[in-house]
Amino acid sequence: MIIDHHPFEVNAAGHLMIGGVDSLTLAEKYGTPLYVYDVGIIRKNARSFVQTFKDLDVQAKVAYASKAFSSIAMVQVAKQEGLCLDVVSEGELYTALQAGFPTERIHLHGNNKSREELKMAVDENIGCIVIDNLYEIQLLEEILREENKTIDVLIRVTPGIESNTHQYIMTGNEDSKFGFNLINGQADEAFQLLHNHGHIQLKGLHCHIGSQIFETEGFMVAVNLLFDQLEKWLDQVDFVPEVLNLGGGYGIRYTEEDEPLAYHIYAEKIVAAVRENSERLNISLPEIWIEPGRSIVGNAGVSLYTIGSSKEIPNIRNYVSVDGGMADNIRPALYEAQYEAVLANKATEEPTTTVSIAGKACESGDMLIWDLPLPEVQPGDVLAVLATGAYGFSMASNYNRLAKPAVVFVEDGMDRLVVRRESVEDIVKNDLSYE
Ligand SMILES: *Cc1c(COP(=O)(O)O)cnc(C)c1O
Repeated sequence: MIIDHHPFEVNAAGHLMIGGVDSLTLAEKYGTPLYVYDVGIIRKNARSFVQTFKDLDVQAKVAYASKAFSSIAMVQVAKQEGLCLDVVSEGELYTALQAGFPTERIHLHGNNKSREELKMAVDENIGCIVIDNLYEIQLLEEILREENKTIDVLIRVTPGIESNTHQYIMTGNEDSKFGFNLINGQADEAFQLLHNHGHIQLKGLHCHIGSQIFETEGFMVAVNLLFDQLEKWLDQVDFVPEVLNLGGGYGIRYTEEDEPLAYHIYAEKIVAAVRENSERLNISLPEIWIEPGRSIVGNAGVSLYTIGSSKEIPNIRNYVSVDGGMADNIRPALYEAQYEAVLANKATEEPTTTVSIAGKACESGDMLIWDLPLPEVQPGDVLAVLATGAYGFSMASNYNRLAKPAVVFVEDGMDRLVVRRESVEDIVKNDLSYE
């Protein structure tokens, strides 16, 4: 059964339970479309990374990539779990500050950080800036000189390897808008500028090879390539990295076909590769940082929708429409992302029909799931799309002037609204009249 691939229970009435609460109760109380997170699963995911490094007795930082899902409540959970936090914009940084996240545990990313973003990062004394390009170095130097401050940085490098995943979300290959190329000397140019810099403290290297990765090979290759470069800098100028950041990308299960590795396996393999290389170079083990996003929140999230109209095209397809779609979850339209779903009120009933789930936006491409096996579907049934916790709400838009859904956190049988549903007033709140 579909529900067996996902970390959720079904109660005696056949209703999908999330964090100990009946999903139908949530749909009724908060309305749909609704994003619901089982916070217990978020914590479990975070702890499986953190605990593995502890067990291996290595210095490590697990930074939650908040672009996967950022809100004040989510950032607070990351804080409670002792994670660091990756932010990539003024908005994500501001969210972290509003959440009371310790600034020394915040890391700033981005391939086009603005002067304002860099200044905000410096003013707030965040823990680290991951340097992406030469222009940014120039901006950062100016800000630090003006303010007579220093800041820790990593150099982001693109190791020129391909990870085995969908090309639209691949960022570690050579032809990438991110980071400094290791092969053509750009990384070396950045290093020459930054090591022994008066205001910029170079701590080490960063790389992020891709997303939704189901094997560890790519991380091993990346570590080896980073160390090939580090060996040169060690020989040339005695540079010893304090930090190596291997990024995120740990795969999760969306559908039955996905076979994710247990998270501790990624951590163990990365530690083994860094350890081996450090011994080879005879340097002490650098601190290991990772940046999971999807693997922290993805499988903890469920989207609830109410079924409305349907359209049967004999011998072709049955379309069933829901009250949300590409505006609250762009992933299927953007990169053909696949999801599984159940009827929340008939979660253990055997499928008797196959339907395709259409969103309500005026786009033929607004389809959430093609050919989904379901029990008999009635208007008013609640559809629960599973594993929507990452890059769902965070990529939501107001296309068709649809209001963004509410977000609810559930933990230990208690539900709590953490992002209010947008209203039509919110939709026009920045519009100005022209008459
Ligand atoms: C997106 C991103 C992550 C998180 O990736 P996931 O696939 O969600 O784990 C980590 N680091 C960087 C630099 C990223 O751009």
